[in-house]
Amino acid sequence: MDCLFCAIIKGEIPSKKVYEDDNVYAFYDINPNAPVHVLVVPKQHIESLDAVNADNASVVSLVMQAIPKIASQLGLKNGYRVVSNIGEDGGQTVKHLHFHILGGTKMPDKVC
Ligand code: AMP
Ligand code: ZN
Repeated sequence: MDCLFCAIIKGEIPSKKVYEDDNVYAFYDINPNAPVHVLVVPKQHIESLDAVNADNASVVSLVMQAIPKIASQLGLKNGYRVVSNIGEDGGQTVKHLHFHILGGTKMPDKVC
């Protein structure tokens, strides 16, 4: 399987690591859309939120639990936005589940 984020998690492609534990990896987005833009991913390859099921939901829960820790580490005291794009219509370009943490400014362009 050829997956960019699996390669990043394995260290085969360099990244600017922000956080790592047994199940979760977080790193700075290469093309930031906010002053702080970090991607949080499960180490297990899950294609997107659309592929979450009873077998992998515990790993996704660990990702969700890591997000506030990472946001705190990044100093996002005033809030932040979390986005996960899903599939073609959702604008997902990397087919490994990831959550964008965006912050460091008042986020514009609310979509919902
Ligand atoms: P999405 O469009 O939601 O699938 O998000 C994929 C994100 O991965 C984009 O914001 C890209 O800028 C980011 N990205 C792509 N390649 C890399 C890389 N090598 N290191 C860090 N971020 C990357
Ligand atoms: Zn992957």
